[in-house]
Amino acid sequence: MDTLNKLNQEIITCRKCPRLVEWREEVARIKRKAYKDEEYWGKPVPGFGDPQARVLVVGLAPGAHGSNRTGRQFTGDASGGFLFPALYRAGFANQPSAESRSDGLILKVMYITASGRCAPPANKPSPGELNNCQPYLEREIEILKPKVIVCLGRIAFERILKIYSVRNSAWKFAHGATYELMTAKFPKGDRWLLCSYHPSQQNTLTGKLTVKMFDDIWKKAKSLIE
Ligand code: SF4
Repeated sequence: MDTLNKLNQEIITCRKCPRLVEWREEVARIKRKAYKDEEYWGKPVPGFGDPQARVLVVGLAPGAHGSNRTGRQFTGDASGGFLFPALYRAGFANQPSAESRSDGLILKVMYITASGRCAPPANKPSPGELNNCQPYLEREIEILKPKVIVCLGRIAFERILKIYSVRNSAWKFAHGATYELMTAKFPKGDRWLLCSYHPSQQNTLTGKLTVKMFDDIWKKAKSLIE
């Protein structure tokens, strides 16, 4: 826990990407009308969850008025509104809602993090910005040694392939695709990468990602840690 806390303190004070620092702070200053009385977080958003996690969930980056406002991954926006009920149904969360850092949400055997920690304009971090942020994700993996990594979206999937130096062209991003991660540290495998569409409104409102499809991901994650 101390190591994770130390890492998170480092993440919160990071200013490596000038474009993102400017954007996240500007959004926090100007605010959306609906949240004008709230104090925005406006800093890099650290991971959160169970320090004994066996499942690591990797998203894209904070939403400008979601976790850039609340300071916790997927908290306070529509993506979280789709994610947390699913995690609750699967038994990974103690409640189906996530509104603020003090809402009592507890994750069980799960830790949620992101490929990039600062809200990017148009939800698009640049490859250079993702490279800047990658060491934080590597350190989380190093500390937690998760048995299953669930990648929410193609960008998270590609980041994990990079971190694990996977150069197998047969590994493609597809919803539900599952790959065994064999690494120098885990030569016997039994470490898994599971792909899911990201629970963004773009996917959930269009039916590209349905409740049933998402529930199946968490059932699969559960079966892989049992
Ligand atoms: S995106 Fe990552 S590396 Fe860039 S400023 Fe934010 S925390 Fe630092």
